[in-house]
Amino acid sequence: MEKILQVKDLQVSFTTYGGEVKAVRGVSFDLHKGETLAIVGESGCGKSVTSQSIMRLIPDPPGKIAGGEILFKGKDLLRLKEPELRKIRGANISMIFQDPMTALNPTLTIGEQIMEGILQHEKLSRTKAKKAAVEMLKLVGIPSPEQRLKQYPHQFSGGMRQRIVIAMALICKPDVLIADEPTTALDVTIQAQILELFREIQKKTGVSIILITHDLGVVAQVANRIAVMYAGKIVELGTRREIFYQPKHPYTQGLLQSVPRLDIEKAELVPIPGSPPDLFSPPAGCAFTARCPYAMEVCDRVYPFSTSLSNQHHVDCWLQDERAQKLASTFV
Ligand code: SF4
Repeated sequence: MEKILQVKDLQVSFTTYGGEVKAVRGVSFDLHKGETLAIVGESGCGKSVTSQSIMRLIPDPPGKIAGGEILFKGKDLLRLKEPELRKIRGANISMIFQDPMTALNPTLTIGEQIMEGILQHEKLSRTKAKKAAVEMLKLVGIPSPEQRLKQYPHQFSGGMRQRIVIAMALICKPDVLIADEPTTALDVTIQAQILELFREIQKKTGVSIILITHDLGVVAQVANRIAVMYAGKIVELGTRREIFYQPKHPYTQGLLQSVPRLDIEKAELVPIPGSPPDLFSPPAGCAFTARCPYAMEVCDRVYPFSTSLSNQHHVDCWLQDERAQKLASTFV
């Protein structure tokens, strides 16, 4: 499978009055052409910081990308100068956020806003840009697009506004679309329609999608692969089937037990006890130790190696690594 984007050992920290918060601690993953990779985890796990780092949107200061590589078409995005980066943002990699209202300017028609990206990145006449905007509104399912181009954001419902934001993100036909909690602000029916729209758009355009969400229901509907993040690290990565039916990391298992499942009758919902560790001074070993029912001495002392369970399924947990016992025997 062609790799469209590679994130290698990404490290991001934030300087605060309380000290340095290590928000992302060595995250690595590949994004394949035409797939949807979901990054899931509780709030504060580093999933949004990871996605914003790909677009180099981390405010510096207080944020700092302290290490790693983000390779897109052979170029390391972390080493590019701002003008080069601006060309890539929007044209090759675009992003949509949770609240469509904050992404739209209330004083401009949606036509002006959708055309802005294409006029900025491609040398097109306004007539051609308008035609492209109409096509894009059709693609995202806005009826009477020619008339609606002249309207303002407040004249659309929340679901329609999110469709407009998606049209803005796709107008330049990007290779990668990063969607950060794109359906969280929407009610369940509209959420299902927007997720269906993602699937249709991907089929028609072949765009690769990184979906950031805390909602496993959303993930179950659209993701091809899932990366589970905890305390700034990816602790398990696998196909949707592997993560939903053969989860190996106790945190992934806990996440799945804490959401309602339609495929398991009368399943009891079990919240994960405790809270994530303080990332001012992250633990040397597994950060899930204090909440994990299977924790061993080795877990607290040494971070687990990544164990590959299949070509696509990888987990950081000592329970899956036979070296745990040998290592434990060296402790005095
Ligand atoms: Fe639990 Fe240890 Fe695995 Fe961490 S490494 S999830 S503490 S068993």
